Amino acid sequence: MTEYNSSILTTDYGLIVKKDTQYVMQTYTRQPIALDHGSGSVVFDTNGKEYIDCVAGIAVNNVGHCHPRVVEAIKQQAERLIHVSNLYYTEVQANLAEQLVSLSGMSRVFFCNSGTEAVEAAMKLARVNTKKKNFVAADHSFHGRTMGALSVTHKEIYRGPFEPLVKDVIFVPYNNAEAIASAITKDTAAVILEPIQGEGGINIPSDDYLKEVREVCDDTGTLLIFDEVQTGFGRTGKWFCKGHFGVEPDIMTMAKALGGGFPMGAITARDDVTFGKSEHASTFGGNPLACAASLGAIEAISEEKLVERSNEMGNYFKAQLKNIKRDDMIEVRGKGLMIGVELNTKCADIVNYAREHGVLLNCTSDFVIRIAPPLVITKEQIDTVVNVIEQA
Ligand SMILES: *Cc1c(COP(=O)(O)O)cnc(C)c1O
Repeated sequence: MTEYNSSILTTDYGLIVKKDTQYVMQTYTRQPIALDHGSGSVVFDTNGKEYIDCVAGIAVNNVGHCHPRVVEAIKQQAERLIHVSNLYYTEVQANLAEQLVSLSGMSRVFFCNSGTEAVEAAMKLARVNTKKKNFVAADHSFHGRTMGALSVTHKEIYRGPFEPLVKDVIFVPYNNAEAIASAITKDTAAVILEPIQGEGGINIPSDDYLKEVREVCDDTGTLLIFDEVQTGFGRTGKWFCKGHFGVEPDIMTMAKALGGGFPMGAITARDDVTFGKSEHASTFGGNPLACAASLGAIEAISEEKLVERSNEMGNYFKAQLKNIKRDDMIEVRGKGLMIGVELNTKCADIVNYAREHGVLLNCTSDFVIRIAPPLVITKEQIDTVVNVIEQA
């Protein structure tokens, strides 16, 4: 693997910000640094300052930054074929589909390019398969920002300006299977749930919740969709979070870590839940470069036993966090390296302090510090992060 060439380093942070402010629609509240390169669990800004990355592109860089397997896979594929239409077969797409079916325990894949697109595909598949149109989703859910996915996303500030959305979505309290039973009608196509809520604040359901929801869905002939966009690919200490609960959905979404950092989304589904000819399509879905990157990432996760490592490091991380003495800490929770630290104050100040001291953290639902580092993070790096959070 060739080394990163520091001679192309841009040092003019001010100019980057100036261009961004002038030319990019200002939808993001950015942290005041520009990232330049990274490796494993660390990234460097344009001043050469190093950070331990506990954001990981929001649960994307599970194999770490610029993993040699992913870099090599992209390079080799880029020299061979970058894009062709889904009018043709490619070996790399067929191989990835086989891998995803095997890892997910489901039957067939549809490829797209992002999490929200995976949710769109899941919703369309549920409708076309059941000939019903309604959905049940959970309070504090996050499923994406396009019109369909936004319809099953709970947060009013995301939804409000864009209504009317898909009608007939009923929101029920998370972690309450009876609420789902009461919400399902003869017109309900599917229930959609995150097996652990990510954006909603790292909310972990009780052990029986998903099992009970499965039973309710079976009794009523309703499809169950698990949105594993954030929880997939070892993030929670299983290949997919459903593995913690021993429950199989009818449709599962994935994205974020799927492409090893390359944009990619997909759904997998049960054998008899499938799209027919022309019922869905995507120009870029299953693009050769994305598939190659994904195969590289999956190889890295397997070879380096990152699923097991996620469990081990996650337990260590949580134990260290629980030792912190801070009056404002309410709870440390999580599975694997999907960890939330709930505070009784807003966490923006901690995020700023941590960044100044070389640790990138992210705050979700205002009061929860989300910790989702690359699964390759070391104990030493975890100790540093815990110290910084303690001192913040
Ligand atoms: C991030 C996320 C999405 C949306 O993914 P995008 O790639 O940003 O569209 C959907 N569902 C869940 C659970 C997510 O965490």
